[in-house]
Amino acid sequence: MPLVETEALVLRTYNLAEADKIVVCLSRAAGLIRGVAKGCRKLRNRYGAAFEPFTLVNLSYYQKENQELVSFRHAEILKSNFNLSSDPETLSGLAYMGDLVVEFSPPYQANENLFRMVKACLEAVAETPEDLSWVLRYFEIWLLKLEGFLPDVKRCADCHRALVGENVFLTPDHSFHCRSCSSGGAHSLSKKVHAQLLAMLKLGPGSFAVASRETPVQANRELAQLTQQMIARVLEREMRTRPSYVPPRFGASPEDARY
Ligand SMILES: [Zn+2]
Repeated sequence: MPLVETEALVLRTYNLAEADKIVVCLSRAAGLIRGVAKGCRKLRNRYGAAFEPFTLVNLSYYQKENQELVSFRHAEILKSNFNLSSDPETLSGLAYMGDLVVEFSPPYQANENLFRMVKACLEAVAETPEDLSWVLRYFEIWLLKLEGFLPDVKRCADCHRALVGENVFLTPDHSFHCRSCSSGGAHSLSKKVHAQLLAMLKLGPGSFAVASRETPVQANRELAQLTQQMIARVLEREMRTRPSYVPPRFGASPEDARY
């Protein structure tokens, strides 16, 4: 039974029995993991406040063969984000991010890029909580991209013409088209929103949020509607049948942000 040591982000916790907690984390070494922290809710416990949601920790744990829950051995706080939980809006935004990671990530499969992206978004929110809504849009798009569900936003799905600066049309299957390839069911995407999508793929979450501060709230709403439709479509259609790992369908270009 090897000891695993890894950096991890605590996403959710549930109380178990009188003094224990079940802790759900996104780890760098093994992706989504769930484990039992024994005695965690006692006043004096060896984990301290390490298992508060959205805390970045150095974690060590054992995983027995054929057991879904790991046994935590040690957790050391690298960055506590406890101060963020005092604002209800920030708290619900972070909880939403955690819920989406749990929905999209297959357990016990390392995804270094996903870990880095989630960590970068959490850092951006911690730095400037007022940018939360833009960071959430960024998070949704990158989650879709890193799990292989984001269509090509740069080129027309049919003729592969570059869509930069063009009128962009979205078909009901959420693929992006130029005007001549758009069909009857397609609707036009605002240029502002398309530009936001392109900017997200180039920038880190903090810089994207700063660059978006002058963007009208209406664009954020339109973007939120789009990301929510895309997410709902994936979760409704894919979650029952999806393979344990979906490789990204679209390659990154050299100028894209990297995780
Ligand atoms: Zn086209």
